[in-house]
Amino acid sequence: MNKQDFPFFNNTDIIYLDNAATTQKPQCVLDAMSEYYLNYCSNTHRGSHDLGNKATQSYEQARKTLADFFHVQDNEIIFTKGTTESINLLASSYVKKNFDTVILSELEHHSNILPWQLQDLQLEIIPLDKDLNIDLRVFEDILKEHPHSFVSITHISNAFGIVNPVKELIYIAHKYDCKILIDGAQALSHIDIDLKDLDADFYAVSAHKAYGPTGVGCLYGKYALLESMDPYQGGGSMIDNVSFEYSTFLAPPFRFEAGTQAIAEVIGFKEAINYLKSIKKEEEGLLSYAKKKLLELEDIILYTNATNVLGNISFNIKGIHHEDIGILLSKQNIMLRTGHHCALPIMKKLGINGTIRLSFAIYSTKQEIDKTIKAIAKAVRMLR
Ligand code: PLP
Repeated sequence: MNKQDFPFFNNTDIIYLDNAATTQKPQCVLDAMSEYYLNYCSNTHRGSHDLGNKATQSYEQARKTLADFFHVQDNEIIFTKGTTESINLLASSYVKKNFDTVILSELEHHSNILPWQLQDLQLEIIPLDKDLNIDLRVFEDILKEHPHSFVSITHISNAFGIVNPVKELIYIAHKYDCKILIDGAQALSHIDIDLKDLDADFYAVSAHKAYGPTGVGCLYGKYALLESMDPYQGGGSMIDNVSFEYSTFLAPPFRFEAGTQAIAEVIGFKEAINYLKSIKKEEEGLLSYAKKKLLELEDIILYTNATNVLGNISFNIKGIHHEDIGILLSKQNIMLRTGHHCALPIMKKLGINGTIRLSFAIYSTKQEIDKTIKAIAKAVRMLR
């Protein structure tokens, strides 16, 4: 249950079920960040003084921790602000220069749509089946028509919890000479991710959705691909040589880390990964429990019968606006999310403008689900 690891819950009876938006942070993450600020606050990769060396060591240890966790090389991990920046970096430094078309599914978060549009790339969309799954034959047909494209697909949907068959998607994409990015924003806290086994070309995550700090995440890329890419931004720390006529850049990953980085957050991210390694993820049972309990509510609308779901469940109550439920539950100290969850295309396909979403973390409990379902039933009675 692990709630005692999270100081946020010390003096509150809040039920927090908005973990797909961001998770609470365990004490070890907060301690690691304070320790940096209190005892060795200084910039990285610059001077030769001891404090700077200690900060650099800690920062680079974080890169190694992530690389080991994902089963890849240290120099394949680029620190970014999070999944959104990772995808924008890739769109600008790689995809724009090598591809005309990006293939997405209907289930993508806006962060996996807008960066491609901003680079004027052509989008091809994989239609989903009635349970919001990708049919691999449909995917393959699209690739036959559009070989040598870039594919970008979410690992777990933030709007409906669908877990996509990423290993198969990657395998098929490679058959058609495509490169593929997996958006792992929702997966990091729920699934063990072995990037070597998956053979993804790129993978993007945000620390804050997996018990880490806000403002940091990473982009993994196969080294040969990273080496072929131009910098995303220019500034300090990423150069080999600078003159007014001509500048040269460091090798990856430093080429992509211009300017002072979010040092404390990177150090916190390392602790979040260590924390993830130390816990047993148990939310799968919670999700099926929540589904069973929700189905006892009158007029419930669920949008998928898929069983390959993790992390979150989305629904509506016939005749009631999702936001009204959100407001009434917040008054009862239950924090859940209502709205389109930054996934407007799938909402439009379903003919709705939003859902109520419960999203879980390792500190979520069945008792909290019971209280939440009761509170929803009460809100519905008030609103009828
Ligand atoms: N992709 C998915 C599936 C997400 O759920 C989110 C955030 O909700 C993002 C991308 C963007 O993540 P961030 O806002 O941390 O950059």
